[in-house]
Amino acid sequence: MHSHSFALAKNKVQRLLFLPGSVWNGWGGRSQSQRRGIRSCRSPLYAFTTHIQDRMAKRIQARRLEGVDENIWVEFVSLAAQYKTVNLGQGFPDFPPPRYVREAFSKAITGEQTLLNQYTRAFGHPPLVKALAQFFGPLFGKELDPLSNVMVSVGAYGALFCSFQALVDEGDEVIIIEPFFDSYEPMTLMAGGRCVFVSLRPTSAGDGKPPSSGDWRLDPAELEAKINKNTKMLVLNTPNNPLGKVFTKEELEEIANICIKYDLICISDEVYEWLVYDGNQHVRIASLPGMWDRTITIGSAGKTFSATGWKVGWAFGPDSLLKHLRTVHQNSIYHCATAAQEAVAQGFLKELERQGKPDCYFLQLRDELQKKRDRLYHCLTEVGMTPLISQGSYFMIADVSRFKSQVPPPTDPNIPYDNYFTKWMMKHKQLAAIPVSAFYSAPHKKQFENYIRFCFVKEDATLKAAEKILQKWSSESPGPQD
Ligand code: PMP
Ligand code: GLN
Repeated sequence: MHSHSFALAKNKVQRLLFLPGSVWNGWGGRSQSQRRGIRSCRSPLYAFTTHIQDRMAKRIQARRLEGVDENIWVEFVSLAAQYKTVNLGQGFPDFPPPRYVREAFSKAITGEQTLLNQYTRAFGHPPLVKALAQFFGPLFGKELDPLSNVMVSVGAYGALFCSFQALVDEGDEVIIIEPFFDSYEPMTLMAGGRCVFVSLRPTSAGDGKPPSSGDWRLDPAELEAKINKNTKMLVLNTPNNPLGKVFTKEELEEIANICIKYDLICISDEVYEWLVYDGNQHVRIASLPGMWDRTITIGSAGKTFSATGWKVGWAFGPDSLLKHLRTVHQNSIYHCATAAQEAVAQGFLKELERQGKPDCYFLQLRDELQKKRDRLYHCLTEVGMTPLISQGSYFMIADVSRFKSQVPPPTDPNIPYDNYFTKWMMKHKQLAAIPVSAFYSAPHKKQFENYIRFCFVKEDATLKAAEKILQKWSSESPGPQD
């Protein structure tokens, strides 16, 4: 058999055997090596397919997949389910999106306009790109052309993927500010680029103030020193996942000046743009002088309307950049589900009417989340962790180094403490979080191994269940030691 059809047949058998189970039972996928271990003891057919693989002369895995096999979400979503945890790990709301967008979604599918069940425009359903241009134009201080300055994709993931594929070439260097949303690294690598990391570093809060995500700062001199003739792009994420830092206008101006000075493209991931607390302001770097023409700003309906499963995201930018994203998009994704786009369009039109009014969903969600953040902050402090007040996003990180006497570090020095601690906590306390080292490059993981990330975009009942666990934990244990 020709080796190509051979590979396809093998793939088919594997898919038949290992179809993921429901998304809830944690079988959503494991890394190749983990799956192999499980398959080999379960399936005689696996032995058959392995045999085929051994006999293939050609290399199976494309080189661009080297080093991107492991994925934190695949591993930790599965563990959170396995240990039946109260889940403050993966970032998704466990409450529904607002009723009017859900109704718009159902209507799109079941209503009179049956064409909403069919293909729509490749780069964004016309009502959605129009609504996005209308809503965001004033926020960028610029009139946006719905057809050339906006592209809709499958979540912010889709928009990010298209950006890296479209703009990063073999040998290009991409500056990534750490801690970073983990996908930026594999997306750079899959495009053939090289990641260059620059870390935010904690500075002292001063005045006896409690530590905050705002104390973590970028050293512009360190950033500048990492730039060379191959540097093409800088990736920014504000509000930042996992830290919750909201970059100030001054900090963004420093970054913008560097982008302009060295002629860099800026990818600005702003999916948590509405979730900014304590009067902090979200500033769009694309709205700063000289930045529009070199910036792609990424957003997500998942975060905006608490509907992460709808997978609607978008990119804003000048046509000179977006036209290349469209080329990737039209040849891979084509477009995201029409009905979901229609519902998000309706959502933005409704929010346009409510802008600045008390019933604006974005303001209501922000205020709700600030209360949830405070509640979690107190609880984590009680048990002996040191959380950092989160300025934005729906995450808060906490220092767990004081637990080293209760939960001694692993014997394997290569395992970051937070990874080990989080797994211990899931197994022994049934509480899920995410190790912050997952948001760092391999060489820097050990430097930032004392923090774990909690997600607070959860029902009060979920937070209460977490509180109960934390209170019981603090009453049972002798308490962490300094
Ligand atoms: N960027 C950041 C910073 C994120 O946290 C996430 C995931 N929540 C995404 C992008 C991907 O968003 P989406 O679910 O819309 O693909
Ligand atoms: N962005 C989400 C988070 O940070 C999760 C993304 C995912 O599960 N792939 O929790």
